[in-house]
Amino acid sequence: MHAYIGLGSNLENPLAQLDRAIETLKKHDDLKNLRVSSIYGSKPVGPQDQPDYINAVASFDTDLSPLALLDLLQSIEQSQRRVRERHWGPRTLDLDLLLYGQERIQLPRLNVPHPFMLERGFVIKPFSDLAPDMLLENGKTVTEQLHQLDTSDLVFIKEE
Ligand code: ATP
Ligand code: CA
Ligand code: CA
Repeated sequence: MHAYIGLGSNLENPLAQLDRAIETLKKHDDLKNLRVSSIYGSKPVGPQDQPDYINAVASFDTDLSPLALLDLLQSIEQSQRRVRERHWGPRTLDLDLLLYGQERIQLPRLNVPHPFMLERGFVIKPFSDLAPDMLLENGKTVTEQLHQLDTSDLVFIKEE
């Protein structure tokens, strides 16, 4: 299955956090053909009294089930000492499963497509680096969706 994930960080050297997570993903035997977008900076969602975020999107092929993939993403978050104190609060690493092929998954632990991805510039912008012409669930291409969003707070940081 072809999967897309979102990566985010706003604590403890965010660029190093993302690089480390990407290295872990690259080395993982169950993930093939890893591709990573550029990295972008943005203002936090929710509480504003926290550092700015950086975000990227990665894609890969995997035979892992959706829940096994979520377990893997959460174990990587844990290994980078993620401490979560409040909803949408600061974190060293956030890994979200955005898409798992064309599947729609509604479980207590896992909602795919990620429920907020279409409205988030910090997801759709890096997504458009990887798959600008892909059709989203609303029938728009990623590029068309990007043009609907306010991306004025996004800054390009670097190419992976
Ligand atoms: P948001 O979902 O708005 O981006 P968040 O990433 O800050 O918020 P977390 O605290 O990281 O939320 O995750 C809360 C729970 O969301 C996780 O424990 C996980 O079980 C659940 N979850 C549901 N769908 C997904 C998904 N597609 N990817 C990752 N986690 C998910
Ligand atoms: Ca998230
Ligand atoms: Ca998350």
